[in-house]
Amino acid sequence: THEQCALYVSSAVILLDSKAQQTELEWISSPPSGWEEISGLDENYTPIRTYQVCQVMEPNQNNWLRTNWIEKGDAQRIFVELKFTLRDCNSLPGVVGSCKETFNLYYQETDLEVGRNIRESQYVKIDTIAADESFTQGDLGERKMKLNTEVRIIGPLSRRGFYLAFQDVGACIALVSVKVYYKKCWSIIENLATFPDTVTGSEFSSLVEVEGTCVSDAEEEADNSPKMHCSAEGEWLVPIGKCICKAGFHQKGDACEPCGRGFYKSSSQDLQCSRCPAHSYNDREGSWRCDCEDGYYRALSDPPSVACTRPPSAPQNMLYNINHTTVSLEWTPPADTGGRNDVTYRIICRRCTWEPEECFPCGSNVGYSPQQSGLTDTYVTITDLLAHANYTFEVEAVNGVSDLSRTQRLFAAVSIATSQAAPSQVSEVIKERVQQHSVQLSWQEPEQPNGVITEYEIKYYEKDQKDRIYSTVKSKSTSATVNNLKPSTAYIFQIRAFTAAGYGTFGPRVEVTTKEESTGSGEQNISFCSLRRHCGYSKADQEGDEELYFQFKFPGTKTYIDPETYEDPNRAVHQFAKELDASCIKIERVIGAGEFGEVCSGRLKLPGKRDVSVAIKTLKVGYTEKQRRDFLCEASIMGQFDHPNVVHLEGVVTRGKPVMIVIEYMENGSLDAFLRKHDGQFTVIQLVGMLRGIAAGMRYLSDMGYVHRDLAARNILVNSNLVCKVSDFGLSRVIDDDPEAVYTTTGGKIPVRWTAMEAIQYRKFTSASDVWSYGIVMWEVMSYGERPYWDMSNQDVIKAIEEGYRLPAPMDCPPGLHQLMLDCWQKDRADRPKFDQIVGILDKMIRNPNTLKTPMGTCTRPISPLLDQNTPDFTSFRMVSEWLEAIKMERYIDNFTAAGYSSLESVARMTIEDVMSLGISLVGHQKKIMSSIQTMRAQMLHLHGTGVQV
Ligand code: AMP
Repeated sequence: THEQCALYVSSAVILLDSKAQQTELEWISSPPSGWEEISGLDENYTPIRTYQVCQVMEPNQNNWLRTNWIEKGDAQRIFVELKFTLRDCNSLPGVVGSCKETFNLYYQETDLEVGRNIRESQYVKIDTIAADESFTQGDLGERKMKLNTEVRIIGPLSRRGFYLAFQDVGACIALVSVKVYYKKCWSIIENLATFPDTVTGSEFSSLVEVEGTCVSDAEEEADNSPKMHCSAEGEWLVPIGKCICKAGFHQKGDACEPCGRGFYKSSSQDLQCSRCPAHSYNDREGSWRCDCEDGYYRALSDPPSVACTRPPSAPQNMLYNINHTTVSLEWTPPADTGGRNDVTYRIICRRCTWEPEECFPCGSNVGYSPQQSGLTDTYVTITDLLAHANYTFEVEAVNGVSDLSRTQRLFAAVSIATSQAAPSQVSEVIKERVQQHSVQLSWQEPEQPNGVITEYEIKYYEKDQKDRIYSTVKSKSTSATVNNLKPSTAYIFQIRAFTAAGYGTFGPRVEVTTKEESTGSGEQNISFCSLRRHCGYSKADQEGDEELYFQFKFPGTKTYIDPETYEDPNRAVHQFAKELDASCIKIERVIGAGEFGEVCSGRLKLPGKRDVSVAIKTLKVGYTEKQRRDFLCEASIMGQFDHPNVVHLEGVVTRGKPVMIVIEYMENGSLDAFLRKHDGQFTVIQLVGMLRGIAAGMRYLSDMGYVHRDLAARNILVNSNLVCKVSDFGLSRVIDDDPEAVYTTTGGKIPVRWTAMEAIQYRKFTSASDVWSYGIVMWEVMSYGERPYWDMSNQDVIKAIEEGYRLPAPMDCPPGLHQLMLDCWQKDRADRPKFDQIVGILDKMIRNPNTLKTPMGTCTRPISPLLDQNTPDFTSFRMVSEWLEAIKMERYIDNFTAAGYSSLESVARMTIEDVMSLGISLVGHQKKIMSSIQTMRAQMLHLHGTGVQV
């Protein structure tokens, strides 16, 4: 303050200032005749108290003057400033020889005030003080004072206080002023740190190091705490380190002030408060950050200085490309990146079943290139998908705040059905038999056949041959014998599988050395072990029926054995079907009603095997012995088959209740309902793939000598991979239970629409009649489950067939396929193709998809006239105009007339091109008219029993 400024001289703390005192000093003078207190005026004529002594006329002077007790306080080094005048001895008249021009300065340290006696010996001499200038007699006239100033320093001091003493030994002195002080560095704020008052060190050269304390709302800078040094002169020197305003505060002068509203300072390092970045706000002072507006976020790694951001919008313009089981997706970045530049993409893959449509995560078997998430580029390739499967892919744009947002995810999605892929490797090869000139190998079907394997190729060469000339052998089953080999020679064999999608890659090399010539006829028998391996049954399961069981499982041509030929039907069941322990079966839900009881789905867990989904057919309680036999008969038949396109029997439970037949689970149920549900959703290649599978299953059954008799789409089951398998096996009486079967004049029930003429007429059921039925199945498949011959009566169907009528090609059906159907419906059964040929034809079509392209309008899909009750009966119209009015297309009457279509018969022959050529440009109208023409055609067929040739 101002007062302090007046009191302190620079950095000094005054302990005694004689000049400042207005009253008497009352120092002790000894002897009292010596020093004398006298009031006077200083150089500025200010009244002052002085002490004077001038005993120059007498020798042996010893006059002491002692100050009052001076409490030293913090001081260690005391400054004593004396101002005095001194007379020149020469200038004094009559002085004795002992006249002096100096005096002595002493001090005495004490903790308390002591008595008034002065004992010389207790004093410590500081110095002898001489005048720089003295004044002389000659000057007296002017009385001009010659003031001397001398400063002496004492210390370090250790007691609480001290006295100063002045010894005169015969001089003429006036002590004008005595000032006693010490020096201090005064409290200051430097670099936002407060440094307290600090007394200087005791030595002249010492610097006192002082730590600063940060002012409020400030903090020390890291590793740089504030320090200063207090010099002996009471000056602050060498500042080191500093304090800085905390986050939320900024510096104003020597203090830290809070940031205002709408401002923030995130770190003490920042100098200034900044305005809140975009999409953020705060409504309080002293904030270190701003809060994000609703819907905006800050990623953990985002500094408070960046704007708040939000998740990006969905990727755009998604394109995809399917190549067998590889799907490539491409898209463009989202319209809104959310305000960030760290947008990446992640792919969510789900595989969906057809029925019921349920989607599951794709799992880890699927490959993503370059990766599944964190994609920076806008494309990805997804590999190792299953063939014939339905997938949905979601591409989600993600940025640094996506995971913070609770708003709905935005993504672009596509649903894709994969097509065919080549089969995976054949890896498990067993050397069944090794001889001098031949090697018999068997192997397991590849883990992922991705379709139906039509053939295996066995490549082999002599191991030590330099030029490695390969030979190949083909096999339709999972075993083959390679002949014409050299004896005692090492051969390398490799096997690959072939499906409609082409060859898979060759499996690992298998080395086999043929036998020596000299060993003669010692042919190895097939080891039991290899058979066991092939069959995959555990030892416990083999007891009892093992020999017979193996007899049937051995690969090669087998013949179907009619269970009826067994006297004991139970023995037939156990010969062909494995008895399962009911505890291995878990029934989950009812999926259908079979002839003998409920059909359930569930799981089968055989010891040492993975559990599998199964369908469980149960025999209802209260069955008769005959019903039981008939029920189990299906298992006796099914158990003889082992083909990827024939429903596989897992086993039976006959020793417990309920009696059960356990069959592989076919997720999509029966084919007719499946197709109706997915009307128009498959590619022609997919449909042909299904037909190919059914044909392959039938080829197998016919090779076994089994005649199905009730081949129809409703008796084909479809699994989740769209693989079709032939099912519903039974003897003739099982057909009796087919609701489609009707009694014919020849006796017995027959599913007329599916059955060949000779079978209807004289019950001639053969594989050739199965081929007829297969043709009907083809028609059902290509028309997505349409009822053959629509609602014509069975009688009319029989009549129409006898008269040579055949079902027309379904809509969008490639002509080649319709031709194949017509071939299956040859009147003379010898003229019909064999299943083997059918498989070959379909394979060729699949391999050359161009042959499946349908020329527009050449082949249209019939619509059942009575499917829709609202459909008018076109056959009742006589005029084209009436018909057009009925379908509310009367605006085109003139177009039809002008083009010369005057009769409904001529209209019924129109193709889509014809309709377009009338100048009807609206696609919706073209479709409506075309569909009505098809209905009309079907109704005419119904009426006349003959098709209209298009
Ligand atoms: P079925 O007695 O064989 O006609 O079977 C009655 C119904 O049960 C069929 O129409 C199918 O919907 C269903 N079903 C039969 N077998 C299976 C199976 N293996 N997998 C799935 N569903 C089946």
